[in-house]
Amino acid sequence: MSKLFQNYKRAAIEFVKAQGNYLFDADGKKYLDFSTGIGVTNLGFHPQVKKALEAQAERIWHSPNLYQNSLQEEVAEKLIGNRDYLAFFCNSGAEANEAAIKIARKATGKQEIITFKDSFHGRTFGSMSATGQDKIKEGFGEGVPHFHYAVFNDLDSVKKLVNAQTAAVMLELVQGESGVLPAKQDFVTALVDYCQENDLLLIIDEVQTGMGRTGKLYSFEHYGIEPDIFTLAKGLANGVPVGAMLAKAQLGSAFGPGSHGSTFGGNKLAMAASSAVLDIMTQAGFLEQAWENGNYLQDQLKKALANNLKVTQVRGLGYMIGIETTANLADLVQAARDKGLIVLTAGTNVIRLLPPLTLTKEELDQGLTILKEVFA
Ligand SMILES: *Cc1c(COP(=O)(O)O)cnc(C)c1O
Repeated sequence: MSKLFQNYKRAAIEFVKAQGNYLFDADGKKYLDFSTGIGVTNLGFHPQVKKALEAQAERIWHSPNLYQNSLQEEVAEKLIGNRDYLAFFCNSGAEANEAAIKIARKATGKQEIITFKDSFHGRTFGSMSATGQDKIKEGFGEGVPHFHYAVFNDLDSVKKLVNAQTAAVMLELVQGESGVLPAKQDFVTALVDYCQENDLLLIIDEVQTGMGRTGKLYSFEHYGIEPDIFTLAKGLANGVPVGAMLAKAQLGSAFGPGSHGSTFGGNKLAMAASSAVLDIMTQAGFLEQAWENGNYLQDQLKKALANNLKVTQVRGLGYMIGIETTANLADLVQAARDKGLIVLTAGTNVIRLLPPLTLTKEELDQGLTILKEVFA
């Protein structure tokens, strides 16, 4: 009998080894990974990340935030480039969103935040309250007040919720957990204009869409916008726990000494891994290749599944792809696993693919072949 809470529905296999873009279970069965954990090991089990972790472990693996941390400075610089942001490091996506919610409230002196139906922002009280899905909150009683939920891709529904106490609007540009739903360009453009005109901060949750997942370092680059605040986690350290909240430098005074913190935040191992991740992702042509390959995968799936009566839509952005289906999701996941491919689900009717950005053309075609068989 397991001594663990049964809060996860776990499959009956354990991955005990990984190499590049492949996983191995306890019986030695080999799987191609089109899930990257849940959008975490975006570079697969990359030797350069492993080397950075080993080298850092040799030096020092923890130092409290009472002292200088040049690794945090280094990662912040790589994340920010020539934009005008400041960074705060924590340990997860939920924590990054907590920091975003806190700085938005403090910087504006206002409390209300508009998020969206079917959004997902995390499981802590603040981030859970920001989340626009009742099933995530069931049984936990009253949440953090002052969140209001607009309809995704519908600006009028946002306007109806805005009042003098509104601090910010917060969204994912591709809703991940609820079914891989991309925001429409004209909605985002109009929302950004509306926020600027009405002095509302724009918070983009890039926890899943960030770190190359959509073929750009941040998904907001696709939309030609710059949020006031954005959050990162999943792919940031390729599997070492980390989160980050970045906000425009002019909001910096809201997070002065003693205002916010995290014991483990910006841990040296996590920062060493993040630094290596960013070096790899910013190599000339790397993200362009991922963008191209993601589009290839999406196009090939669209072609192959066009006449499939059980597939209603293939959609996504870059290497974040959803296959909406009327077939049983658990059966599809199991069928893929039997054939040596790991995939995810999202919402109630979507097979979600979050493959490593490092897939070779051969691996890509191997996964595609299995997916075609599974849906046939
Ligand atoms: C996964 C996810 C989170 C929560 O991240 P944790 O690290 O599990 O706390 C928040 N927002 C989005 C968009 C996510 O996909």
